[in-house]
This record gives sequence, structure tokens and C-alpha cells, in this order.
Amino acid sequence: MIFLTRRCIVCGKPAIINIKYAHAAFCSEHFKKYYERRILRTLKDTKFPGGKILVALSGGVDSVALLTALTEICDELKSEVEAVHMNLGIYQNNFSSESMRTSNEVAKMLNVKLHIIDLKQEIGYYIPEIISKNGRNACSICGLIRRYLLNKFAFEKGFDWLATGHNLDDVAAFYLKALASQDIESIIRGLDVLTPPYHEFKLVGRIRPQLYITKMENRAYVALKKAPIVEIACPLGKKAKLHKYVKAWNFLVNINPVSQLNFVKSINILRSKIVKSNINLKKCKICGYPTTTTDSICAFCRLINKLKDKAK
Ligand SMILES: [Zn+2]
Ligand SMILES: [Zn+2]
Repeated sequence: MIFLTRRCIVCGKPAIINIKYAHAAFCSEHFKKYYERRILRTLKDTKFPGGKILVALSGGVDSVALLTALTEICDELKSEVEAVHMNLGIYQNNFSSESMRTSNEVAKMLNVKLHIIDLKQEIGYYIPEIISKNGRNACSICGLIRRYLLNKFAFEKGFDWLATGHNLDDVAAFYLKALASQDIESIIRGLDVLTPPYHEFKLVGRIRPQLYITKMENRAYVALKKAPIVEIACPLGKKAKLHKYVKAWNFLVNINPVSQLNFVKSINILRSKIVKSNINLKKCKICGYPTTTTDSICAFCRLINKLKDKAK
């Protein structure tokens, strides 16, 4: 990451970071500016109209970088920014306690209001109990619960947008895996920088402003902003399936630095040209949030029912 011989393309001072795919090197001051401009431009390119943004803050590098950058540019975005942290109750390796502590520290440093959702208070269980009662893959259950509760919280508290820290490396690995395994559904559903709100179905808008920014850039940004991050990986997470695609990308990016960015952009441009088959959204009979299931009971309510049955 350190290229002392290179010079910042803005001021000519020795560069501390070289963004190969952009053919640009920066000093610390101008990298921070560059990073924030990228986030701003990514959102402006989608005609983001502004409004109340709730950032899902895990305490990890991506969400900390996102919250930090959004607080810097919120005036230009005509937005107000608050954050939410979800306590998942994963105490192995101090994962949840450190994530909570770090999230609190970050919010305090940035002077941002932090909301806490405690999973046990919300649904009666933490993630490890749910996993032990329900044999499914930990990441997919946790993802389902987080998506549902974060949207519900944002909707009920009157936020317009939920912002999440998806980075280019993750999305590129996700798309590559989906293509390699003919998982067309995942590609069509995909991940966009902006998904508009759908109030009739109680869906807040979604923004993923780091979709075209690498993890390395997020890491450099939080380091330069001196923001704390939690470095403990989730002990229940099995990223092994995606990991080989991350490795494949390391190889490809070495050959052609811009290939990863172009790959994700190409897929998203292709997706935007597909006339999406009418996804039949219905309101869940139990909670009123959207679902596509034939019996009109959403995956979240189905999970909760199953947990209640097992508790009897
Ligand atoms: Zn400079
Ligand atoms: Zn439901």
C-alpha cells in the first residue's frame, strides 16, 4: 500500500496509497477527499434525492467507513444520518460485545445518534439459540433476520433510506459465484447502489454507496480517519464458499486492476436492461411486511412460528 516514490496526483506530496484501477495515487488528505467524493458521486449518479438515512453499523470496517463518510457529506446529500446497531448475542470470541462497544465509540466520535436493536428483546432469542433450534445455515438465517428487522425498524422510525456497507470485493465474489453456479435468481435480484422505497409494502429505500469501492479503500479510509473498528470475524460465519471466489478475484485483479469494477458494473448494467418479471409482492398475513410466498406468510414470520412451536 505504501509507494513512497509515487506522488499525490492532486498536490504532488509523497503518496500513501495507490489506487491501481483508477491509475491514481494520493496523499492522506487527498485520499480522504477522493473517497468521500466517490461516495457522493456514486449516490448522485443514481439521482439519490436525499432524506433521512439510517446506517446499519456492525462495527466492521465497511460500515464504519460508510457512516464516517456519510457524516462528512450529509449536507451535500441533503440528508440526515443516524445509525443502528443490532445486538445478535454472539458472545463467542467476544464478537457481539466488541461489536457493540466499537459501534458506540464510532457513533460518539462522529456525534451520530445510535439506535440499538437487541435481538432477544425483539424476538425472544439471540442468534446462537436460533441456530441450535433451527438447523439451517447460520449466515442465511442471520441475514434474513437482519434484513427484516432493519427494514422494519427504519420504516417504523420514519427513515427514508437504509444504508449498508456492501463493498466491491464482496459483490464481485457474490456475482462470480452466482454465475459459476447458474444461480440466475441471485443475479437478477442483485445488488444496486440504490433501490427505491416502496411504502405501500412498508419497504424503505436501500442504498449501498460502497458498491464500487474496494475493501482496501474502506480500510485505508477508516485508518486515516482514526475511526475504531472491530477486527473479530463472526465465529458462526462460514465465508468459505465465497472465499475461493475472492481468491479468484485477487488473481484477476493482478492481471487487470480494473476488471473487478468493470465486471460488477457490467452485470448491473445488464440487469438494468432486463425487464424484470413481475415479482408478485404480497402482504404477509401475519405481519403485513412483503413476501412472495404462495401462502402469504413471510420467511421471517415462518421462522418465528417455527421457533415458538419448538419452545412449546
Ligand atoms: Zn495530496
Ligand atoms: Zn410476516
